[in-house]
Amino acid sequence: MEVRRQYPVYLYALERALARLKPDDPAIRQVKDEIYRQEAGYSGELASDQYVQRTRLPGSVRVLTDLQIELGEGESVQIDTLILTPRGAWIIESKRYRGMLRYCHSPKRIERVDDDGLAIAFPCPILQLETQIRAMEGWLESRGIELPVNGTVAFASHNVWEGLPDAAPIIPVREIPFYLENEFRIKPDCLDAQQFNQLVRLLEREGLHKEWTPICKRFGINPNHLKRGFLCPDCDAVLARATERTVHCTGCGHEGLRDYWQLILDWFLLIHPTINNAQLRTFARLTGKQSANRILRMYELDKGGASTRTVYSLNPYRDLDAMYEVSLY
Ligand SMILES: [Zn+2]
Repeated sequence: MEVRRQYPVYLYALERALARLKPDDPAIRQVKDEIYRQEAGYSGELASDQYVQRTRLPGSVRVLTDLQIELGEGESVQIDTLILTPRGAWIIESKRYRGMLRYCHSPKRIERVDDDGLAIAFPCPILQLETQIRAMEGWLESRGIELPVNGTVAFASHNVWEGLPDAAPIIPVREIPFYLENEFRIKPDCLDAQQFNQLVRLLEREGLHKEWTPICKRFGINPNHLKRGFLCPDCDAVLARATERTVHCTGCGHEGLRDYWQLILDWFLLIHPTINNAQLRTFARLTGKQSANRILRMYELDKGGASTRTVYSLNPYRDLDAMYEVSLY
């Protein structure tokens, strides 16, 4: 089964937030913890992808990744891995945590305890899985599609557990092929080829409405407290101007061109869904209106508003894929 997954936009945005937060900002701890949680998820997904890829199911199968299911009222549920067949849909919620894990009730969560006794809490993956299954069932039902939805939590790490319920739907990632093949075998066909293809198309289109919430808004960070200007790609220090086009780092000695794309991307990821001329000048610490205009027109941003009220925008979920793969790898 073929699996395609992109580097998560949210994780990348958190990394950019860490680069732009000043060293003494109290939000740093919060952002670092969230990076840790998201990395645990992403690294678990990559590990489980390998086993999903090895699974052999006969007939039509599609693996959808990072699916966003709208629940209405601006609420949505993210499904990392959905295996879609004419017999059923299976959700895999994968995790990779280091070390000792403690399963806690009220509220349901998992705590990982460090060697130095510090605990970091993760949302309960079983609860996450149940929420996803219910969201998927509701989504199918509202479209009159009859297809059973099941799933499992898959762990990519070996952990010592404390307090884990016996019947917990948790398997090691290496058991994913057995899990899927067994589940598939005992189920009858529910959809014909045409219905199946239609469902795949509907779900693929679902992701296009995803709306991005900038990191500052999610974490209640005041954007004015972020570093402005171009940042050193090596040490995240604010770069000093060397010439009209180049910059240099007084911290580590890095020299390079001004990276306007990274700066504008940081704005959208961290601060606001739109940018105008004045905002770019403030954020990039530029003075010329004309050059700010030229820069904003250089990139393939969506343009709205007339003349002096022109704003540019970009949806990181939708518009980033191609450009952003290039910048990351
Ligand atoms: Zn540097």
